[in-house]
Amino acid sequence: MALRVHNTLSRKLESFKPLDDKNVKLYTCGPTVYNVAHVGNWRAFLFYDLFKRYLSYRGFKVTHVMNITDVDDKIIRDCQKTGLSREAFTKKYTDLFLEDEKTIGILSPDHMPRATEYVGDMISLIQSLMDKGFAYRADEGVYFRVSAFKSYGKLSGIDQEQLLAGGSGRLTADEYDKSSVQDFALWKFHVPADGDVMWDAPFGKGRPGWHIECSAMARRLLGDQLDVHMGGVDLIFPHHENEIAQIEPVSKKRFTTYWLHNEHLLVDGKKMSKSLGNFYTLRDLLAKGHKPLAIRYLFISTHYRQKFNLSMEALHSAEVAVKTFDEFLIHLQDAAAENDNPKLPRLIAKTEKSFQKAMDNDLNISEALAHLHNFMSQINKLRAKLSKKDTKEIKDFMLRINTVLGVMSEHKDEAPKDILDLVAKREMARKAKVWKESDAIRDQLKVKGWYVEDLPQGPRPRRIE
Ligand code: AMP
Ligand code: ZN
Repeated sequence: MALRVHNTLSRKLESFKPLDDKNVKLYTCGPTVYNVAHVGNWRAFLFYDLFKRYLSYRGFKVTHVMNITDVDDKIIRDCQKTGLSREAFTKKYTDLFLEDEKTIGILSPDHMPRATEYVGDMISLIQSLMDKGFAYRADEGVYFRVSAFKSYGKLSGIDQEQLLAGGSGRLTADEYDKSSVQDFALWKFHVPADGDVMWDAPFGKGRPGWHIECSAMARRLLGDQLDVHMGGVDLIFPHHENEIAQIEPVSKKRFTTYWLHNEHLLVDGKKMSKSLGNFYTLRDLLAKGHKPLAIRYLFISTHYRQKFNLSMEALHSAEVAVKTFDEFLIHLQDAAAENDNPKLPRLIAKTEKSFQKAMDNDLNISEALAHLHNFMSQINKLRAKLSKKDTKEIKDFMLRINTVLGVMSEHKDEAPKDILDLVAKREMARKAKVWKESDAIRDQLKVKGWYVEDLPQGPRPRRIE
């Protein structure tokens, strides 16, 4: 069976077929770096990651671009409060984002363009839209003429009457809702409140609107046509609707084939958001003792088109699930049967097929995970009848699945006995404050390719990567 995904554009499940055979061009809307991303944002980023990992597992070659929005209304407003330059302010939050991304096990995109590095592309795209009559200059900036683009509304389902009603007004703010469809800002002329954030353009000094940023970066790095574009449902309108409008009149081609949107993470039934103040950052959850793998498991294990409430109970269940994988992999080492188990190859093949079938169905993750958990309990029952070769096959299978899920510890830090002995000797020397000896043992370990992580629960040997 082929992979099928829910396309927001058609509101239907569609077979997934990239324009160029097995090569996938993927653009995902990245963070606006004006504060630390909350875990609602991480739900979106983890959804991108899961889909991308699954595409790779299914043999597609993915080129992934995710932007970093480092200039917009909110950034200008907040960086001035801190007295920092825009550069210093956004660098601080970009660095924190990249750290968190690693912590939660997200595979880095192939390109992470910063919007400010592509202002030249934004200016030429705006100029092309003006030349073709889709954009015009007004007092406060350059605006997109919504009524000129007949397909406006095709993604979000805005009706044409609403368009005509709103057709004469103009909006300068980047964020607005469906009740105020009007011409939107592509370029905002410089005002004193912008401080020194401005670029020269043929139509006047100023800065880009948020929507044109993604269009220009996507076009520069992936071309006129993308296979997949992703984001949270709040981006369908106006952001993604506007992205289409900014490209298609110029390229005369369909901008994106598949639009995939994740539902929101809620807190007490309301969308988690900065503005409502009902948010946790990843760091907040880690400080409460939750593990990155469990947080990751929680967010990917609910179907992406379902809303769900963040709760401590849900986090706890995710912790139990992750521990099940962990214990399962550790106990595989105990296998000692002489003969290979004849049932195993079929069981692995059947589980992998079922996992794939579920994921092919618009990423039906709960069904896919149920097959895995079922597999683990069957293997646990067979444990006394597994050979070393069997356990290697099981482990290889689990790690193959883990290239998609990223929720299992790989236990590659299990140290052999000589290393454990050295670590114990070093610990004794440290406790006795014989630093010369403990340093010497550290050097010995290093030569053997190991170092020691001193954790509150004791020293842990780690491989030098
Ligand atoms: P932003 O940095 O606000 O542009 O958001 C980055 C991504 O997070 C976008 O794809 C948003 O749609 C998504 N997002 C924001 N809030 C939530 C939430 N509560 N649940 C899921 N996704 C969210
Ligand atoms: Zn975007």
